[in-house]
Amino acid sequence: MSNCAIVGINWGDEGKGRMVDLLTRDYDVVVRYQGGGNAGHTVINEYGKFALHLLPSGIFRDGVVNILGNGVALDCENLWQEMQSVTEQGVALTPNNLKISDRASLLLPWHRDLDALEEARLQDKKYGSTKQGIAPFYSDKYQKKTILAGELFYPDHLRAHLRDLLEWKNLTLERVYGAQPYTMDQLTDWIADYGEKIKPYVCDTGAWLDDAAAQGKRILFEAQLGALRDLDYGIHPFTTSSNTTAAYAPVGSGLPGAKIDEVVGVVKAYSTCVGEGPFVCEWFGERAEALRKAGAEYGAKTGRPRRVGPIDLVATRYGVRMQAATNLALTKLDVLDDMDEIPVCTHYEIDGVRTDKFPFPAALASAKPVFESLQGWKCDISSVRRWEDLPPQARAYVEYLERNLGCRIGYVSVGPERDSIIVR
Ligand code: GDP
Repeated sequence: MSNCAIVGINWGDEGKGRMVDLLTRDYDVVVRYQGGGNAGHTVINEYGKFALHLLPSGIFRDGVVNILGNGVALDCENLWQEMQSVTEQGVALTPNNLKISDRASLLLPWHRDLDALEEARLQDKKYGSTKQGIAPFYSDKYQKKTILAGELFYPDHLRAHLRDLLEWKNLTLERVYGAQPYTMDQLTDWIADYGEKIKPYVCDTGAWLDDAAAQGKRILFEAQLGALRDLDYGIHPFTTSSNTTAAYAPVGSGLPGAKIDEVVGVVKAYSTCVGEGPFVCEWFGERAEALRKAGAEYGAKTGRPRRVGPIDLVATRYGVRMQAATNLALTKLDVLDDMDEIPVCTHYEIDGVRTDKFPFPAALASAKPVFESLQGWKCDISSVRRWEDLPPQARAYVEYLERNLGCRIGYVSVGPERDSIIVR
C-alpha cells in the first residue's frame, strides 16, 4: 500500500499512536494533518514511554521523515517542549527527519487565553475544552487572522501583520472579556523566542511531499482524536475544531490530490470519552471505576479520568462509515480479561423506537442503550501473538464486532508495547 491513513473511529484515545508507531516500519513518511497539542498519543517502544501531542509518531523510526502539515494548529510552545523531552530520551530530531509546513498557522499566546476565558464565561454550559487554544485558533484561521509559519522568513511583513492582528485581538480581549491586552513587545519577544526555535524545521512541505510521492515513497497520514469529534460529522457542538476524518488528510497534509489506499480505523474494545457531551453507553459507579482502572483511562494530556462504558456499535458503525475505513485495529482487548460477561450496545432506543442508526446529535440526549452480552474469556491474553492462540470467547468477541461493524479487523492489540499485537 503506498498511502495509508490511521484514524480514530470513536471519541479519540483509541490507541492510534501505538498503531502508527507499529506501522511506520512499512512507511517512509508520517504526516500529522490536523489538531494541535490538545490530545496525546501514547507510544511505548525501545526509547521509553512517550505522550506525543504534536510530533508525528514516526519520529522513533530511523529513516522516516515526519511532517506537521498545514492543517495542524502549530503550537510552538508545546512542540518545543515535546522536542526537548524526546531529544533528552535519545531520539534525534533534525530538519531531515522533522519538517513543518510553511503554510501551518501559528497558535498564538492569546488563543490559549481565549479558550480559558470562554470556558469560564460558559460556566456549567462549558464544552470541556482542554484549554489548549484550539477552538479560538481554528476560528481565527477561518477568519484568515493567523500567522503562517513561513512568514517567519519575512520579518518586516511579519511585524506589520502581527501589529494588525494585535490591534484586532485586543478588542476582543478587552471589550468582550475584560482581560489584559497584549503589547507588541510581548508578541515580538514570543516570536523571537519560539519562532526562532522552530524556524530551522519550516519549509515547503507540500513541494517536498509531491517529490516524495513522485518517487513512490509510502506516506502514512496520522490523525488526532476520532470520527465522533470531527468538526463536520461529530457530535456537535462537542467536537474538536478540525476534521479528524481520513478524507481531510490530503488537504491538511499538503498533498490535496493524494489518493489514500488504506484507511486503518482504530477502535477500542470498549468505549471511552474525555470531556462533556452525550455518551450513551456510559457506566458509573464501581463497574466504571473497575474498567477505568483496568484500562488506565486517564487523559494523556490532562490526566482527567476518562468516562468509560461498553463498546457502542451504533456509534462505532457510524465512525467506520465516516472514516471510510478499509481495515480496523481493535485495541485494548486485554483490558476485558477479567470480565465474566461483556456487554455490547447494539441499538439505541429513542422515544420508544429502536434504531441501529447513529442519530442527529440533538437526539442523543434521549437515546438509551440496548445491550447484548457476550461471554468473557477470564484469562490473561497479553502474551498472545497469534490469532489461533486467543481463547475462543475472545475470537468470538472480535468476530462478532467484525460482523456488526461491516469491516474487517486486521489487527488485535493486546498490550501497549509495540509487539503486543496480533496481525490477522
Ligand atoms: P491515541 O491518542 O489514540 O494514540 O490514544 P492514547 O494514547 O490517548 O490512549 C491509548 C492508551 O492505551 C495508551 O496509554 C496506550 O499505551 C494504551 N494502549 C494502546 N493499545 C493498548 C492495548 O492493546 N492494551 C493496553 N492495555 N493498552 C494499550
